[in-house]
Amino acid sequence: MRDAVNAPRVSYHDYIVIGGGTAGCPLAATLSERSRVLLLERGGSPYADGRVLDMARFSDVLADTSDSSPSQRFVSEDGVINARPRVLGGGSCINAGFFTRAAPAYVRAVGWDPREVAAAYRWVEDVVAFQPVLGPWQAAVRRGLLEIGVLPDNGFTYDHITGTKVGGSIFDADGRRHTAADLLRYARPEGIDVFLRARVYQILFDFKGDTPVARGVVYRDARGMVHAAYLNPGAANEVILAAGALGSPQQLMLSGVGPADHLRSFQLDVVLDLPGVGQGMSDNPMNAIFVPSPSPVEVSLIQVVGITRFGSYIEAASGSNWDAHRSSSSSSPSPSSSSPPRRNFGMFSPQAGQLATVPPKQRTPEAIARAVEAMSQVPDAALRGGFILEKVLGPQSTGHLQLRNLDPDDNPAVTFNYFSHPDDLRRCVAGITAIERVIRSRAFARFTYPNFAFPAALNVTAEFPVNLLYQRGSDPRALERFCRDTVTTIWHYHGGCQVGRVVDRDYRVLGVEALRVIDGSTFNASPGTNPQATVMMLGRYMGVKLLRERMLIEGPGRKNP
Ligand SMILES: Cc1cc2nc3c(=O)[nH]c(=O)nc-3n(C[C@H](O)[C@H](O)[C@H](O)COP(=O)(O)OP(=O)(O)OC[C@H]3O[C@@H](n4cnc5c(N)ncnc54)[C@H](O)[C@@H]3O)c2cc1C
Repeated sequence: MRDAVNAPRVSYHDYIVIGGGTAGCPLAATLSERSRVLLLERGGSPYADGRVLDMARFSDVLADTSDSSPSQRFVSEDGVINARPRVLGGGSCINAGFFTRAAPAYVRAVGWDPREVAAAYRWVEDVVAFQPVLGPWQAAVRRGLLEIGVLPDNGFTYDHITGTKVGGSIFDADGRRHTAADLLRYARPEGIDVFLRARVYQILFDFKGDTPVARGVVYRDARGMVHAAYLNPGAANEVILAAGALGSPQQLMLSGVGPADHLRSFQLDVVLDLPGVGQGMSDNPMNAIFVPSPSPVEVSLIQVVGITRFGSYIEAASGSNWDAHRSSSSSSPSPSSSSPPRRNFGMFSPQAGQLATVPPKQRTPEAIARAVEAMSQVPDAALRGGFILEKVLGPQSTGHLQLRNLDPDDNPAVTFNYFSHPDDLRRCVAGITAIERVIRSRAFARFTYPNFAFPAALNVTAEFPVNLLYQRGSDPRALERFCRDTVTTIWHYHGGCQVGRVVDRDYRVLGVEALRVIDGSTFNASPGTNPQATVMMLGRYMGVKLLRERMLIEGPGRKNP
């Protein structure tokens, strides 16, 4: 890895990969086995930021909204606060770590080869995936799911099977994060150049008749210096976009590929009118219930999942005192005794932008600041507990992405239209109902107060931590209201360059030569219960496929370049 300020002003490569993220790293590592690859990542190194590597500092990263943060906050037009990565390793450096494969039916529907998919998953898992050790609270959620009939008990597995299971994690037993950047250890060093803080501004095109052919990219380093990288001559050479569900459609548009009218409204030259770019944006809605506990709970991110038959996934995270966990689990100094208590719910902390209780449109920075302040006033016992959440499969509701300006580092405008499809609402209500049953289960009794009533749980959640609007009456549609009012993100947003709309089944951009998109922007639905394992797998899977195509074009005789 080198900083892009040290990159040549002009360079030539077999593949240029835009975005060193969850798909980009395994893809580039694989391609380097038999070609010369340039990997351009706009963020810095995950190994230089202790917060990225430490599970206990998960929410610190999301709370850092500075320009140099590994996490870039964005707020969808729906009003839900969200995050996108800006670091080598992409989302795998800032995420909650749960690691689980896609369902066989998903693999079939997409048209991937199941044997090669399994080999690619194993290639990834050998480096980044671990079996978590369950604490008592997560174990109780697991037994509760089994008791309410989310069966069978599938034990620990990476596989996506209906029932209850313990999934993998990219955090090891010491809470240290392993990321897609670690997969670069597979790379052939002479075959790859990795540049950090390299912001791609544009893909360059030639024309073969009317057909655009990608020939390189323009990027800027941290000092604003412009660099040009071109493809070597050769039929197998390509530019590959792996800039994620926001970055890839945005970069296509900035390069003149997208809905012509929209591009013209920004005075962009239209290379190709491709109306599907930016369409089909989806974010799986997440709703969570806070369950106060009479007993102490461990600090945990997601480890257990209930894969129900009604299209809702039940997961959980516990603990409110992440700072205490950090000071006991790492060498970083503990906060001084005079500093005010900092309550931190990990993935649900207001610091991370997750205000389950605040209606989407009201999730302003001021609301977050009020919530953080309110939480510091609440006694410890009231905040002891955990969140049980449900994520909707799919989802069916879709939205779109549009440019706001011509800066590739700025967030585009994204609309997800949560719950605009009735199936999503139905699944949310079924999921919340299942959570109620888990909370009432015998297995979970130790972690709920004896007089605890579910409507109260909804109210606590809806009022937590800033006392806003939610009122639960006897209306049977109240749960629908709860779903809409307390929707948050589980950060599994995808789409924008979907297969069939923007790319073909081999991820080639429709109507363009020498250009593919390989990342989560191509998904029509989020794979498995959580996507990162499949995104990494896709990087490896397509890398192997591209090298095979190269061999067919060039013949097996080509020496390592
Ligand atoms: C907070 C959070 C928690 C999550 N929790 C989980 C979880 O527990 N389990 C799970 O399976 N999934 C989880 N996810 C989802 C998962 O991490 C993502 O779906 C996945 O990482 C997406 O991978 P990607 O390759 O499509 O894009 P990314 O990983 O986002 O990679 C895109 C890369 O491109 C770079 N880039 C963008 N534009 C440019 C440009 N113009 N020039 C150069 N570089 C550029 C970005 O900096 C980024 O590194 C979570 C995500 C987040 C954000």
